[in-house]
Amino acid sequence: MTENDIRGVAGLCGTCAHALIRPTNKGTVYLRCALAATDERFARYPRLPVHECPGFTRPGSA
Ligand code: SF4
Repeated sequence: MTENDIRGVAGLCGTCAHALIRPTNKGTVYLRCALAATDERFARYPRLPVHECPGFTRPGSA
């Protein structure tokens, strides 16, 4: 799965400023929520797709 692939199936996380998408050494990618480091309401690795999230932030609007 590529970065574009994961954005396409991730729901809100796919377009969220807090989503960190990183490659693995197996050639795939994973999505981590940066808010999880400071707010326990958020899962470090959200179950995708995410359809509702109080932390959702459009890139550039924070
Ligand atoms: S704040 Fe919500 S929508 Fe944004 S990356 Fe985290 S879980 Fe996904």
